[in-house]
Amino acid sequence: MGETGPRYIVLLGPPGVGKGTQAERLTERLSLPHVASGDLFRQNLKAETALGLQAKTYMDRGALVPDDITIAMVVDRLAQPDCAAGALLDGFPRTVAQAQALEDALAQQGHALETVLYIDAPADVLLARLGGRWTCRQCGAVYHLLFSPPRVAGRCDECGGELYQRADDTPETHRRRIAVYQEQTAPLVDWYKTRDLLTEIDGTLDIDGMTAALVATVEA
Ligand code: AMP
Repeated sequence: MGETGPRYIVLLGPPGVGKGTQAERLTERLSLPHVASGDLFRQNLKAETALGLQAKTYMDRGALVPDDITIAMVVDRLAQPDCAAGALLDGFPRTVAQAQALEDALAQQGHALETVLYIDAPADVLLARLGGRWTCRQCGAVYHLLFSPPRVAGRCDECGGELYQRADDTPETHRRRIAVYQEQTAPLVDWYKTRDLLTEIDGTLDIDGMTAALVATVEA
């Protein structure tokens, strides 16, 4: 833990709050791999693996993929060599069962979570952000038409890949995903508070302001 052992940090917050954007910036800063469960599912979907096809039915309607599938996938990812120094987890855990499984898996290795960065914002802010979101088909980088547009319309700044709107980026699915978050993921706030692991970050800040607040926390 801390300065010497691997660093495991969780980004927690509702869909659309900016976890993915901030995770990209933080992983660079901390030299930790970005482990995003949603990205892992999308990679599996692209590769048409059994796992990807199983996850698709849940993802398309904004529901959570069952815990057993999700936990196995993320624990497997954390066992890869590039996670030896730790990881920045984004989008996982999303249920108390996942949080417990993560705690157990780390404890088995003699490790523990360092901190949970909890970013929150009101639903109207989340819906506005989810509305203009475009994702790179190639590298997964995320853009927003208003808040962080690409330099060239429809093309990724990082790799030149084509930008597309995710299948789960529709107004109806956005509202459903926020409701699912309130119901199944929000209880993690108290769960981590009890463990004295939670740091709250204001999700209404602009992109740079939020990065500054997050960096101040993890580098404190
Ligand atoms: P995200 O990219 O984090 O917004 O995730 C996209 C979708 O993948 C979610 O709406 C879920 O269907 C699924 N998903 C991602 N992470 C998890 C998780 N930890 N537990 C269950 N489902 C997940």
